[in-house]
Amino acid sequence: MEDHMKLSEAIRLGAMATEPARGFFIERSSNGIIKTCAFGSAVYAAGQLLKWPEGNRYIIGRWPWVIHTLVKCPACRWITIVMEIIIHLNDYHGWSRERTAFFVSMIEPQEQVLLEDQRKEQPDNELVAAI
Ligand SMILES: [Zn+2]
Repeated sequence: MEDHMKLSEAIRLGAMATEPARGFFIERSSNGIIKTCAFGSAVYAAGQLLKWPEGNRYIIGRWPWVIHTLVKCPACRWITIVMEIIIHLNDYHGWSRERTAFFVSMIEPQEQVLLEDQRKEQPDNELVAAI
């Protein structure tokens, strides 16, 4: 996976290669089938097979804006950090990883460069606020 890959792209890629999961990051069943949540998909696309909490740390290290950006849940209007909303969409609202990836694509920084200075370069989106 290339360094500049966006989170939404990583979720989409991982979702193509694995079955969906709720309530856990990545799980390999006895018959070899790999299941992932939205974040697990991104971690899988990055070539990692990390479980919680290592997978969580990997996501934060690679896409730190997910814990520095507030967003409103598109389904129930709960406001919290992006990381919590992505987990919430997957586990609580039962969104597919593809649908979650599309939502992420609308709120994520458009260039990886923006991550360097997240507080100055917020996306022009009323749902998003820096914290
Ligand atoms: Zn919600």
